[in-house]
Amino acid sequence: MISENVKKLVENGSAIRAMFEEGARMAAEFGKENVYDYSLGNPSVPAPKEVNEAIIKITEETDSVALHGYMNNAGYPSTRQVIADHLNKLHGTAFSAKNILMTVGAAGGLNVILKTLLNPGDDVLAFAPYFVEYNNYVANFGGKVIPVQTINNGFMPDPAVLESMVTKNTKALIINNPNNPTGVVYPESVIKEIAEVLVKKEKELGISIYMIADEPYRELAYDGVDVPYLTKYYHNTIVGYSYSKSLSLPGERIGYLVMPDELDDAEMIISGAAVANRVLGFVNAPSLQQRVIEACIDCSTDVNVYDKNRKFLYESLTKLGFECVKPQGAFYLWVKAPDGDDVAFSAAAKKYHLLIVAGRGFMGPGYVRLAYCVDYDMIVRSIPAFEALAKEYGLS
Ligand code: PLP
Repeated sequence: MISENVKKLVENGSAIRAMFEEGARMAAEFGKENVYDYSLGNPSVPAPKEVNEAIIKITEETDSVALHGYMNNAGYPSTRQVIADHLNKLHGTAFSAKNILMTVGAAGGLNVILKTLLNPGDDVLAFAPYFVEYNNYVANFGGKVIPVQTINNGFMPDPAVLESMVTKNTKALIINNPNNPTGVVYPESVIKEIAEVLVKKEKELGISIYMIADEPYRELAYDGVDVPYLTKYYHNTIVGYSYSKSLSLPGERIGYLVMPDELDDAEMIISGAAVANRVLGFVNAPSLQQRVIEACIDCSTDVNVYDKNRKFLYESLTKLGFECVKPQGAFYLWVKAPDGDDVAFSAAAKKYHLLIVAGRGFMGPGYVRLAYCVDYDMIVRSIPAFEALAKEYGLS
Protein backbone atom coordinates (compact mmCIF):
# COMPACT_ATOMS: atom_id res chain seq x y z
CA MET A 1 0.00 0.00 0.00
CA ILE A 2 1.27 3.47 -0.76
CA SER A 3 1.87 6.16 1.87
CA GLU A 4 -1.19 7.77 3.45
CA ASN A 5 0.07 11.21 2.40
CA VAL A 6 0.50 10.30 -1.26
CA LYS A 7 -2.81 8.45 -1.20
CA LYS A 8 -4.49 11.71 -0.15
CA LEU A 9 -2.70 13.58 -2.92
CA VAL A 10 -3.87 11.03 -5.49
CA GLU A 11 -7.44 11.19 -4.20
CA ASN A 12 -7.59 14.99 -4.09
CA GLY A 13 -5.84 15.39 -7.45
CA SER A 14 -5.13 18.81 -8.90
CA ALA A 15 -8.15 20.86 -9.95
CA ILE A 16 -6.07 22.61 -12.61
CA ARG A 17 -4.69 19.42 -14.09
CA ALA A 18 -8.17 17.83 -14.02
CA MET A 19 -9.56 20.84 -15.87
CA PHE A 20 -6.71 20.67 -18.40
CA GLU A 21 -7.45 17.00 -19.05
CA GLU A 22 -11.16 17.76 -19.34
CA GLY A 23 -10.20 20.37 -21.94
CA ALA A 24 -8.40 17.74 -24.01
CA ARG A 25 -11.42 15.44 -23.77
CA MET A 26 -13.82 18.21 -24.76
CA ALA A 27 -11.59 19.28 -27.64
CA ALA A 28 -11.79 15.71 -29.01
CA GLU A 29 -15.59 15.74 -28.66
CA PHE A 30 -16.50 19.27 -29.81
CA GLY A 31 -13.45 20.29 -31.88
CA LYS A 32 -10.48 22.24 -30.55
CA GLU A 33 -11.75 25.56 -31.89
CA ASN A 34 -14.98 25.21 -29.89
CA VAL A 35 -13.34 24.77 -26.49
CA TYR A 36 -11.94 27.79 -24.60
CA ASP A 37 -9.30 26.50 -22.26
CA TYR A 38 -8.15 29.06 -19.65
CA SER A 39 -7.00 26.41 -17.18
CA LEU A 40 -3.24 26.09 -17.31
CA GLY A 41 -0.35 28.56 -16.99
CA ASN A 42 1.52 27.07 -19.94
CA PRO A 43 3.18 29.92 -21.92
CA SER A 44 1.71 30.43 -25.40
CA VAL A 45 4.66 32.51 -26.64
CA PRO A 46 7.37 30.27 -28.14
CA ALA A 47 10.81 30.31 -26.53
CA PRO A 48 13.11 32.91 -28.17
CA LYS A 49 14.81 31.55 -31.30
CA GLU A 50 18.16 32.15 -29.58
CA VAL A 51 17.33 29.29 -27.20
CA ASN A 52 17.05 26.71 -29.98
CA GLU A 53 20.12 28.14 -31.70
CA ALA A 54 22.07 27.91 -28.44
CA ILE A 55 21.03 24.27 -27.95
CA ILE A 56 22.37 23.40 -31.41
CA LYS A 57 25.57 25.42 -31.00
CA ILE A 58 26.32 24.09 -27.51
CA THR A 59 25.73 20.45 -28.44
CA GLU A 60 27.88 20.85 -31.58
CA GLU A 61 30.72 22.76 -30.00
CA THR A 62 31.06 21.43 -26.45
CA ASP A 63 32.87 18.24 -25.54
CA SER A 64 30.04 15.76 -25.10
CA VAL A 65 31.41 14.02 -22.00
CA ALA A 66 31.86 17.34 -20.23
CA LEU A 67 28.49 18.69 -21.41
CA HIS A 68 26.43 15.76 -20.18
CA GLY A 69 28.42 14.87 -17.08
CA TYR A 70 27.88 15.38 -13.35
CA MET A 71 28.97 18.65 -11.82
CA ASN A 72 28.94 20.63 -8.59
CA ASN A 73 25.49 20.25 -6.94
CA ALA A 74 25.05 24.04 -7.11
CA GLY A 75 25.58 24.10 -10.89
CA TYR A 76 28.24 25.33 -13.29
CA PRO A 77 30.29 28.16 -11.69
CA SER A 78 30.34 30.02 -15.02
CA THR A 79 26.52 29.93 -15.36
CA ARG A 80 26.09 31.09 -11.76
CA GLN A 81 28.57 33.94 -12.31
CA VAL A 82 26.77 35.08 -15.47
CA ILE A 83 23.47 35.15 -13.53
CA ALA A 84 25.05 37.00 -10.59
CA ASP A 85 26.52 39.63 -12.97
CA HIS A 86 23.17 39.97 -14.73
CA LEU A 87 21.31 40.55 -11.46
CA ASN A 88 23.95 43.02 -10.25
CA LYS A 89 23.62 44.99 -13.47
CA LEU A 90 19.81 45.05 -13.27
CA HIS A 91 19.32 45.63 -9.55
CA GLY A 92 22.56 47.15 -8.23
CA THR A 93 23.13 44.09 -6.00
CA ALA A 94 26.53 42.53 -5.24
CA PHE A 95 26.04 38.79 -5.76
CA SER A 96 28.75 36.38 -6.83
CA ALA A 97 28.53 32.84 -8.18
CA LYS A 98 28.51 31.47 -4.64
CA ASN A 99 25.16 33.17 -3.94
CA ILE A 100 23.47 31.37 -6.86
CA LEU A 101 22.30 27.74 -6.93
CA MET A 102 20.89 26.34 -10.16
CA THR A 103 17.58 24.53 -9.66
CA VAL A 104 15.02 22.36 -11.40
CA GLY A 105 12.66 25.28 -12.04
CA ALA A 106 10.93 27.33 -9.35
CA ALA A 107 9.32 24.18 -7.96
CA GLY A 108 12.73 22.56 -7.48
CA GLY A 109 14.11 25.75 -5.95
CA LEU A 110 11.25 26.07 -3.47
CA ASN A 111 11.63 22.45 -2.39
CA VAL A 112 15.37 22.90 -1.96
CA ILE A 113 15.08 26.02 0.18
CA LEU A 114 12.19 24.65 2.23
CA LYS A 115 14.14 21.47 2.92
CA THR A 116 17.12 23.60 3.92
CA LEU A 117 15.14 25.80 6.32
CA LEU A 118 12.27 23.82 7.80
CA ASN A 119 12.03 21.67 10.87
CA PRO A 120 8.85 19.60 11.27
CA GLY A 121 6.18 21.78 12.86
CA ASP A 122 7.47 25.05 11.41
CA ASP A 123 4.97 27.48 9.91
CA VAL A 124 5.35 29.16 6.53
CA LEU A 125 3.16 32.20 5.91
CA ALA A 126 1.84 32.92 2.41
CA PHE A 127 -0.42 35.71 1.22
CA ALA A 128 -3.67 34.10 0.08
CA PRO A 129 -4.76 33.37 -2.56
CA TYR A 130 -1.57 31.56 -3.53
CA PHE A 131 -0.14 28.90 -5.86
CA VAL A 132 -1.62 25.82 -4.26
CA GLU A 133 1.48 23.65 -4.61
CA TYR A 134 2.97 25.65 -1.73
CA ASN A 135 0.88 23.48 0.61
CA ASN A 136 2.43 20.32 -0.84
CA TYR A 137 5.99 21.66 -0.96
CA VAL A 138 5.87 22.85 2.66
CA ALA A 139 4.21 19.58 3.79
CA ASN A 140 7.07 17.67 2.13
CA PHE A 141 9.25 18.82 5.03
CA GLY A 142 6.71 18.60 7.86
CA GLY A 143 5.80 22.30 7.79
CA LYS A 144 2.44 23.97 7.44
CA VAL A 145 1.32 26.90 5.28
CA ILE A 146 -0.55 29.58 7.21
CA PRO A 147 -2.62 31.66 4.75
CA VAL A 148 -2.50 35.42 5.31
CA GLN A 149 -5.68 36.86 3.80
CA THR A 150 -5.54 39.79 1.37
CA ILE A 151 -9.14 39.77 0.12
CA ASN A 152 -10.19 42.69 2.31
CA ASN A 153 -7.33 44.77 0.96
CA GLY A 154 -7.87 44.40 -2.81
CA PHE A 155 -5.56 41.34 -2.80
CA MET A 156 -2.67 43.51 -1.61
CA PRO A 157 -0.84 42.32 1.55
CA ASP A 158 -2.04 44.13 4.66
CA PRO A 159 0.89 44.67 7.07
CA ALA A 160 -1.40 44.67 10.13
CA VAL A 161 -2.87 41.29 9.18
CA LEU A 162 0.63 39.95 8.53
CA GLU A 163 1.86 41.20 11.89
CA SER A 164 -1.02 39.52 13.69
CA MET A 165 -0.12 36.14 12.14
CA VAL A 166 3.62 35.96 12.86
CA THR A 167 4.44 33.70 15.82
CA LYS A 168 7.53 32.07 17.29
CA ASN A 169 6.74 29.16 14.98
CA THR A 170 7.09 31.26 11.81
CA LYS A 171 10.12 30.20 9.79
CA ALA A 172 9.37 31.88 6.48
CA LEU A 173 7.02 34.00 4.42
CA ILE A 174 6.54 33.13 0.76
CA ILE A 175 5.84 36.17 -1.39
CA ASN A 176 4.91 35.71 -5.03
CA ASN A 177 5.22 38.87 -7.07
CA PRO A 178 3.72 39.30 -9.71
CA ASN A 179 1.08 37.10 -8.24
CA ASN A 180 -0.48 33.85 -9.36
CA PRO A 181 -3.53 33.73 -9.30
CA THR A 182 -4.55 37.41 -8.88
CA GLY A 183 -2.21 39.16 -11.36
CA VAL A 184 -1.57 41.80 -8.69
CA VAL A 185 1.92 43.35 -8.43
CA TYR A 186 3.03 44.42 -4.95
CA PRO A 187 4.66 47.86 -5.16
CA GLU A 188 7.71 49.11 -3.27
CA SER A 189 5.60 50.82 -0.58
CA VAL A 190 3.94 47.49 0.33
CA ILE A 191 7.24 45.60 0.25
CA LYS A 192 8.75 48.15 2.65
CA GLU A 193 5.83 47.71 5.04
CA ILE A 194 6.18 43.92 4.91
CA ALA A 195 9.93 44.22 5.59
CA GLU A 196 9.24 46.51 8.58
CA VAL A 197 6.84 43.97 10.08
CA LEU A 198 9.35 41.13 9.65
CA VAL A 199 12.25 43.11 11.13
CA LYS A 200 10.08 44.10 14.11
CA LYS A 201 8.88 40.54 14.69
CA GLU A 202 12.38 39.06 14.35
CA LYS A 203 13.55 41.39 17.14
CA GLU A 204 10.49 40.93 19.31
CA LEU A 205 10.53 37.11 19.07
CA GLY A 206 14.30 36.61 18.81
CA ILE A 207 13.99 34.49 15.65
CA SER A 208 15.00 34.61 11.99
CA ILE A 209 12.13 34.89 9.53
CA TYR A 210 13.14 34.21 5.93
CA MET A 211 11.27 35.87 3.10
CA ILE A 212 11.16 33.52 0.11
CA ALA A 213 10.49 35.53 -3.05
CA ASP A 214 8.92 33.21 -5.63
CA GLU A 215 9.48 35.05 -8.89
CA PRO A 216 8.69 33.03 -12.02
CA TYR A 217 6.65 35.99 -13.33
CA ARG A 218 9.18 38.77 -12.60
CA GLU A 219 9.42 39.95 -16.23
CA LEU A 220 5.71 39.61 -16.96
CA ALA A 221 4.65 43.07 -15.81
CA TYR A 222 2.59 45.58 -17.78
CA ASP A 223 2.03 49.32 -18.12
CA GLY A 224 5.64 49.96 -17.01
CA VAL A 225 4.89 48.81 -13.46
CA ASP A 226 7.97 48.22 -11.29
CA VAL A 227 8.52 44.83 -9.61
CA PRO A 228 10.82 45.54 -6.62
CA TYR A 229 13.85 43.25 -6.13
CA LEU A 230 13.27 42.01 -2.62
CA THR A 231 16.82 41.39 -1.39
CA LYS A 232 17.21 45.19 -1.37
CA TYR A 233 14.46 45.64 1.22
CA TYR A 234 14.96 42.82 3.73
CA HIS A 235 18.18 41.15 4.87
CA ASN A 236 16.71 37.63 5.17
CA THR A 237 15.44 37.35 1.59
CA ILE A 238 15.99 34.32 -0.64
CA VAL A 239 14.86 34.61 -4.27
CA GLY A 240 13.57 31.67 -6.28
CA TYR A 241 13.59 32.33 -10.01
CA SER A 242 12.58 30.26 -13.00
CA TYR A 243 12.84 30.45 -16.78
CA SER A 244 9.56 28.52 -17.18
CA LYS A 245 7.53 31.62 -17.98
CA SER A 246 10.18 34.25 -18.73
CA LEU A 247 11.72 32.19 -21.56
CA SER A 248 8.77 29.80 -22.09
CA LEU A 249 10.77 26.77 -20.95
CA PRO A 250 8.53 25.05 -18.37
CA GLY A 251 9.33 21.56 -19.63
CA GLU A 252 13.07 22.10 -19.49
CA ARG A 253 13.03 22.62 -15.69
CA ILE A 254 15.57 25.36 -15.16
CA GLY A 255 15.79 28.13 -12.57
CA TYR A 256 17.92 29.27 -9.65
CA LEU A 257 17.95 30.37 -6.03
CA VAL A 258 19.66 33.54 -4.83
CA MET A 259 21.00 33.29 -1.29
CA PRO A 260 22.63 36.61 -0.35
CA ASP A 261 25.56 36.94 2.10
CA GLU A 262 23.29 39.10 4.31
CA LEU A 263 21.14 36.13 5.36
CA ASP A 264 21.31 34.99 8.97
CA ASP A 265 23.42 31.78 8.76
CA ALA A 266 24.22 32.54 5.11
CA GLU A 267 27.14 30.10 4.86
CA MET A 268 25.11 27.25 6.35
CA ILE A 269 22.12 28.01 4.12
CA ILE A 270 24.29 28.10 0.98
CA SER A 271 25.98 24.79 1.87
CA GLY A 272 22.69 23.29 3.06
CA ALA A 273 20.88 24.14 -0.17
CA ALA A 274 23.53 22.37 -2.28
CA VAL A 275 23.15 19.27 -0.08
CA ALA A 276 19.33 19.56 -0.25
CA ASN A 277 19.54 19.71 -4.07
CA ARG A 278 21.55 16.47 -3.95
CA VAL A 279 19.54 14.51 -1.40
CA LEU A 280 16.17 15.48 -2.89
CA GLY A 281 17.41 13.61 -5.93
CA PHE A 282 17.76 16.59 -8.26
CA VAL A 283 21.57 16.27 -7.83
CA ASN A 284 22.04 19.27 -10.11
CA ALA A 285 19.91 21.31 -12.51
CA PRO A 286 19.90 20.07 -16.14
CA SER A 287 23.39 20.68 -17.54
CA LEU A 288 22.46 21.60 -21.12
CA GLN A 289 19.85 24.09 -19.89
CA GLN A 290 22.40 25.76 -17.62
CA ARG A 291 24.61 26.32 -20.67
CA VAL A 292 21.61 27.64 -22.61
CA ILE A 293 20.82 30.17 -19.88
CA GLU A 294 24.45 31.28 -19.87
CA ALA A 295 24.26 31.90 -23.62
CA CYS A 296 20.80 33.51 -23.54
CA ILE A 297 21.07 35.62 -20.40
CA ASP A 298 19.88 38.77 -22.21
CA CYS A 299 16.96 37.10 -24.01
CA SER A 300 13.37 37.78 -23.08
CA THR A 301 9.87 36.68 -24.00
CA ASP A 302 7.47 38.85 -25.99
CA VAL A 303 5.43 40.34 -23.16
CA ASN A 304 3.33 42.31 -25.68
CA VAL A 305 1.52 39.12 -26.67
CA TYR A 306 0.28 38.57 -23.10
CA ASP A 307 -0.41 42.29 -22.70
CA LYS A 308 -2.69 42.29 -25.75
CA ASN A 309 -4.58 39.27 -24.33
CA ARG A 310 -4.77 40.91 -20.91
CA LYS A 311 -6.29 44.14 -22.19
CA PHE A 312 -8.81 42.47 -24.46
CA LEU A 313 -9.98 39.88 -21.95
CA TYR A 314 -10.20 42.33 -19.05
CA GLU A 315 -12.09 44.91 -21.10
CA SER A 316 -14.45 42.33 -22.64
CA LEU A 317 -15.35 40.70 -19.34
CA THR A 318 -15.81 43.92 -17.39
CA LYS A 319 -18.04 45.21 -20.22
CA LEU A 320 -20.18 42.10 -19.79
CA GLY A 321 -20.60 42.94 -16.10
CA PHE A 322 -18.04 40.59 -14.56
CA GLU A 323 -16.02 42.01 -11.69
CA CYS A 324 -12.32 41.45 -12.38
CA VAL A 325 -9.12 42.44 -10.59
CA LYS A 326 -7.15 44.45 -13.16
CA PRO A 327 -3.99 42.40 -13.63
CA GLN A 328 -0.66 44.23 -13.67
CA GLY A 329 1.51 41.15 -13.98
CA ALA A 330 1.75 37.39 -14.65
CA PHE A 331 -0.82 36.03 -17.13
CA TYR A 332 -3.88 35.43 -15.00
CA LEU A 333 -7.22 37.20 -14.64
CA TRP A 334 -8.93 36.90 -11.24
CA VAL A 335 -12.69 37.15 -11.65
CA LYS A 336 -15.35 37.32 -8.96
CA ALA A 337 -18.01 34.62 -9.05
CA PRO A 338 -21.17 36.72 -9.43
CA ASP A 339 -23.04 34.85 -6.69
CA GLY A 340 -19.93 34.11 -4.63
CA ASP A 341 -19.83 30.38 -5.47
CA ASP A 342 -16.65 29.81 -7.50
CA VAL A 343 -17.19 26.06 -7.91
CA ALA A 344 -20.71 26.52 -9.30
CA PHE A 345 -19.45 29.36 -11.50
CA SER A 346 -16.68 27.27 -13.08
CA ALA A 347 -19.17 24.39 -13.54
CA ALA A 348 -21.63 26.78 -15.24
CA ALA A 349 -18.83 28.07 -17.47
CA LYS A 350 -18.09 24.55 -18.64
CA LYS A 351 -21.56 24.32 -20.18
CA TYR A 352 -20.38 27.01 -22.62
CA HIS A 353 -17.06 25.17 -23.14
CA LEU A 354 -15.19 27.70 -20.98
CA LEU A 355 -12.57 26.04 -18.79
CA ILE A 356 -11.80 28.23 -15.80
CA VAL A 357 -10.44 27.20 -12.41
CA ALA A 358 -12.34 27.69 -9.14
CA GLY A 359 -10.45 29.97 -6.76
CA ARG A 360 -10.79 27.82 -3.65
CA GLY A 361 -8.02 25.63 -5.06
CA PHE A 362 -5.80 28.70 -4.52
CA MET A 363 -7.26 29.42 -1.06
CA GLY A 364 -9.30 32.14 -2.74
CA PRO A 365 -12.96 31.05 -2.68
CA GLY A 366 -15.49 33.30 -4.38
CA TYR A 367 -13.23 33.91 -7.39
CA VAL A 368 -12.06 32.03 -10.47
CA ARG A 369 -8.75 32.15 -12.33
CA LEU A 370 -8.39 32.51 -16.08
CA ALA A 371 -4.94 31.84 -17.53
CA TYR A 372 -4.73 34.12 -20.59
CA CYS A 373 -1.45 32.69 -21.89
CA VAL A 374 -3.46 31.42 -24.86
CA ASP A 375 -3.97 32.32 -28.52
CA TYR A 376 -5.56 35.75 -28.94
CA ASP A 377 -7.98 34.22 -31.46
CA MET A 378 -9.22 31.79 -28.84
CA ILE A 379 -10.06 34.71 -26.56
CA VAL A 380 -11.94 36.43 -29.38
CA ARG A 381 -13.85 33.22 -30.17
CA SER A 382 -14.70 32.73 -26.49
CA ILE A 383 -16.47 36.07 -25.93
CA PRO A 384 -19.96 34.83 -27.04
CA ALA A 385 -19.58 32.02 -24.48
CA PHE A 386 -18.83 34.60 -21.76
CA GLU A 387 -21.86 36.57 -22.97
CA ALA A 388 -24.06 33.52 -22.47
CA LEU A 389 -22.53 32.96 -19.02
CA ALA A 390 -23.15 36.61 -18.09
CA LYS A 391 -26.76 36.24 -19.19
CA GLU A 392 -27.18 33.12 -17.08
CA TYR A 393 -26.02 35.11 -14.05
CA GLY A 394 -28.27 38.06 -14.94
CA LEU A 395 -25.36 40.41 -15.63
CA SER A 396 -26.27 41.53 -19.12
N1 PLP B 1 5.47 29.38 -8.34
C1 PLP B 1 4.39 29.87 -8.95
C2 PLP B 1 3.69 31.04 -8.35
C3 PLP B 1 3.92 29.31 -10.15
O1 PLP B 1 2.82 29.82 -10.74
C4 PLP B 1 4.61 28.20 -10.70
C5 PLP B 1 4.14 27.55 -11.93
O2 PLP B 1 3.12 27.84 -12.49
C6 PLP B 1 5.74 27.72 -10.02
C7 PLP B 1 6.13 28.31 -8.85
C8 PLP B 1 6.50 26.56 -10.54
O3 PLP B 1 7.26 26.96 -11.63
P1 PLP B 1 8.31 26.02 -12.37
O4 PLP B 1 7.65 25.48 -13.59
O5 PLP B 1 9.45 26.89 -12.70
O6 PLP B 1 8.69 24.95 -11.42
